[in-house]
Amino acid sequence: MKTVAIDLGGTIIKTGLFDHDRLVESASAKAASGKGLKNSWPVIRKMVDLLLKDHNVKVKEVLGIGFSFPGLVDSSGNRVLSTNKKYDDAPEMDLTRLAKETWNLPLYLENDARMALLGEWQHGAGMGFENIVMITLGTGIGTAVLIDGKLLRGKHFQAGNLGGHFTVNHRGTVCTCGNIGCMESEAATWRLPELIKSNVAYDSSSLKKEKILDYEVLFRNAARNDFLANEILGHCFSVWSSGLISMIHAFDPEIIILSGGIMQSAPVILPELQKRVNRYAWTPWGNVKLLEARNINTASLYGANYLVRNGEKK
Ligand SMILES: [Zn+2]
Repeated sequence: MKTVAIDLGGTIIKTGLFDHDRLVESASAKAASGKGLKNSWPVIRKMVDLLLKDHNVKVKEVLGIGFSFPGLVDSSGNRVLSTNKKYDDAPEMDLTRLAKETWNLPLYLENDARMALLGEWQHGAGMGFENIVMITLGTGIGTAVLIDGKLLRGKHFQAGNLGGHFTVNHRGTVCTCGNIGCMESEAATWRLPELIKSNVAYDSSSLKKEKILDYEVLFRNAARNDFLANEILGHCFSVWSSGLISMIHAFDPEIIILSGGIMQSAPVILPELQKRVNRYAWTPWGNVKLLEARNINTASLYGANYLVRNGEKK
């Protein structure tokens, strides 16, 4: 039997067709997450229909649709609970009904960070482990937790998802979530330009010549020994490692999988964070191993496939 996976991102929509555990084909299109999910549905529908048509797959050969969403979701009731400027109309929508009306198929909804964790667990860096924390460092910071081979969801479906909003600086910046000094508001990509420009060393830094201020630019300038780039990077390492250590103290994982665009600099990031985790985390049994995600672009699709094949019937 086949499954269809849909990964709704802030900037890209991805779809995939699976035959058992094999990703037969994937496709992607530009997302307009600011314009809502209702508006994006015709694009999603077209992408899925094309995948099925290209591989001569009839709808009756498909087990279900795995749907990865960038927000807090109730995976039991298939409802989006809360969004943050992406597909903000989704909480009003009945996704079960929509999938039934569109393809007459059951839908399996899950948060995107959890879906990526399922994917890396089944088909990536997490294979062979049952206790995993996954952190995606990107525009925001997404987290998810697997304990004893089960996704941590909690009473209100937000357990493990809000690691990016762990307080790392009680005197810090107000975050988009309303809290003060979150890991995200201290060191996610969206905060970088302000962090850099408000520093007194900005005028004499090579960063002043850069049009875009993201992590790729920061790492490049730090490698050239720019003073400010190194200072900001040091700040980010300190924020990220604080977040990782809180995740370790809260969830007792065997490994932490790191993902996101920032992993382009994995050879610099991983050893530095590993050194700090080994030094500061209270883990008398040994050290939590930090691993790079193996499927940065397709983990959520693999997770969606797993969820459809192993989730409870909807
Ligand atoms: Zn926050």
